[in-house]
Amino acid sequence: QRQLAESLHIVNEFAQEYFSHTLFETEEGQAVGLSYFQERGFSEDIIRKFQLGYNPDKRDAFARAALKKGYSIEYLQKTGLVVTRNGEPADNYRGRVIFPVHNQTGKVIGFGARILKSNDRAPKYINTPENQLYVKSKLLYGTYFARQAISQADECLLVEGYTDVISLHQAGIENVVASGGTSLTPDQLRLIKKYTGNLTILYDGDAAGVKAALRGLDLALEEGLNVQLALIPDKEDPDSYVRRIGAGAFRDFIRTHKKDFIFFKLEVSLEEAGNDPKRKSELVNQLAETISRINKTEHFTLQQDYIRQCSEILKIDEQGLVSLVNKHLRERL
Ligand code: ATP
Ligand code: MN
Ligand code: MN
Ligand code: MN
Repeated sequence: QRQLAESLHIVNEFAQEYFSHTLFETEEGQAVGLSYFQERGFSEDIIRKFQLGYNPDKRDAFARAALKKGYSIEYLQKTGLVVTRNGEPADNYRGRVIFPVHNQTGKVIGFGARILKSNDRAPKYINTPENQLYVKSKLLYGTYFARQAISQADECLLVEGYTDVISLHQAGIENVVASGGTSLTPDQLRLIKKYTGNLTILYDGDAAGVKAALRGLDLALEEGLNVQLALIPDKEDPDSYVRRIGAGAFRDFIRTHKKDFIFFKLEVSLEEAGNDPKRKSELVNQLAETISRINKTEHFTLQQDYIRQCSEILKIDEQGLVSLVNKHLRERL
């Protein structure tokens, strides 16, 4: 097992160097890959820091180079770098720009490969398949580059995508990791908790972003994290937004727009419920469930604060909400 992991590491390392080399040192890499990154506003420093790359738009340019170097086809397939097409080895990421994914110690464990021009036939990103090294549910993109800044700021910003992490770094905001747009897992939350107890979610303001954000809430509360959220304005993401308004204004935006997750959830559900009394009562029940999951040992007064403020917002009796919360607690005993 250990040996396999080590072999996959070596293959990934070779691939990362190959993709970087292709980006900076070949004509196609410069004309296609590098100009793509430059058009997106990425500086050369940031491209080098995140070890971005490019895979030539040829059937098997990478596969040939790797096989010639002596790497086995089996490992090349396990890493997702090479696939079999018409019975022959072929590049999986051909004609795509490459975002290496690093583990906490800075080793490359996988890749995200982005198509240059979006179309309906091919997926925008291809990511490494699950293997001994790349376990999606346990990793957050950017952790290696962010962990010091997260500890220092005592806050972790969570965004959706690779480019959000990179653009924020370029803007000097380095305490940021990405989830890949999926909902958070307990392992990912524990990873954040190694560095800070304060999580600020910065998801895209579209419906998908809101949904993904809401799914993470109950889990995060159970882990004892203090969760806040600021939604990025519609049709933008942190990458496009920070480039448009600049680092200072972006920081101000987070500071003035982030609110405790529970109030965010409450507002969304209140809007959905409208004047329907049945839905409002369901909503109160769900809210009580969420509040009951707050890790009391770590946030002694938080639960009481939430109960008080939520009952004010909902214009309901505080003691009623208390007993509902206790009911949920008892049910899980
Ligand atoms: P870009 O700015 O390059 O379009 P993005 O990060 O804004 O990229 P989103 O569509 O917001 O792209 O998706 C957020 C993240 O979700 C991506 O960074 C990627 O990790 C993941 N993702 C998006 N599309 C796919 C896909 N088709 N397959 C797998 N993962 C994807
Ligand atoms: Mn999105
Ligand atoms: Mn984007
Ligand atoms: Mn996005």
